[in-house]
Amino acid sequence: MEYMRLAVTDRCNLRCFYCMPHEGMEFVPRKELLSYEEMLRLTRIMVELGVKKVRITGGEPFVRKNMYGFLKRLAAIDGLEQVNITTNGAVADRHIPFLKEIGINTINLSLDTLDKERYEAITRRDFFASAMSTYHAVLAAGMELKVNMVVMADKNKEDIIPMAMLTKNDPVNIRFIEEMPFNGTGARDTEFMDHRQILAHLKQHLPPMVPIPREKSTTANNYRIAGHRGSIGIIAAWSRTFCGGCNRIRVTATGQLKNCLYDTGVLNLKRLLADGSSDTMIKEAIGQAYRQKLTDGFAAEKHRQGRVTESMSSIGG
Ligand code: SAM
Ligand code: SF4
Repeated sequence: MEYMRLAVTDRCNLRCFYCMPHEGMEFVPRKELLSYEEMLRLTRIMVELGVKKVRITGGEPFVRKNMYGFLKRLAAIDGLEQVNITTNGAVADRHIPFLKEIGINTINLSLDTLDKERYEAITRRDFFASAMSTYHAVLAAGMELKVNMVVMADKNKEDIIPMAMLTKNDPVNIRFIEEMPFNGTGARDTEFMDHRQILAHLKQHLPPMVPIPREKSTTANNYRIAGHRGSIGIIAAWSRTFCGGCNRIRVTATGQLKNCLYDTGVLNLKRLLADGSSDTMIKEAIGQAYRQKLTDGFAAEKHRQGRVTESMSSIGG
């Protein structure tokens, strides 16, 4: 357990159709979210348990009020080596220099297309220019940039090669992600493309791609093209080829600890953080819950109560 993904809100300023329905999304009342103080305490406890890296996600992290002050305090926690953020970039562009200054390491920017119209069709909002502005601001600040593109054959297949070609001039890691059925309805209504099909498509249209040796805990298979400044990754999020090396835990916006994206939560941290439990008691409860981690995402999915119907915005990706 070295890596915690912390969802700071389930709210969002976009409505990406693979993540949530167009309308009728019910967000949790603010009082049910972990407070900033609770998240800071939880992070200190997690660091004592071995966590070295935290990823802030959501919903969209930057729609939560006073996020920047929280991030500054989070990044200053002793023993925490890395704080990374996943964002849609819709409102973050002018704050990138501040994020660099307080020591944020990596920005993962979600961008599923380089075409304004397709962007609006996918996200159902008009933020393409701001997302691109965030892309350029992160590079200009010299921060590490990863771009997440959820691939759907009938929605953005034509964007795969232009996105991959960004690596020619930009030091960016472009990651092609298999779509998972976390769109808040439980039903997929897009044409799925698996990691093998994505790789075949890339190989068909690009110069030779050389595999980059894989670190045990990474979810992406990465490749480099000779002469390109960036790299290309493929994440088999639905095929789940990487579970063996998983060292992640997830905390949802309401404080549910998840051992796996596909489980329904193994511990109510919000209750423990609010009921007077000591740090020692919380550590014991986390340790016990973590030891229940199943072998892989298929086992977690089988073990859950009910099929997947939640929105990814409640889990954090
Ligand atoms: N709002 C932020 C953003 O979009 O970057 C952070 C939260 S979002 C839930 C985290 C990541 O999950 C994003 O990169 C997004 O593309 C990905 N994601 C959301 N729904 C997904 C799905 N159904 N399948 C695969 N990835 C998904
Ligand atoms: Fe919002 Fe991120 Fe979900 Fe898109 S993927 S709706 S930006 S939380």
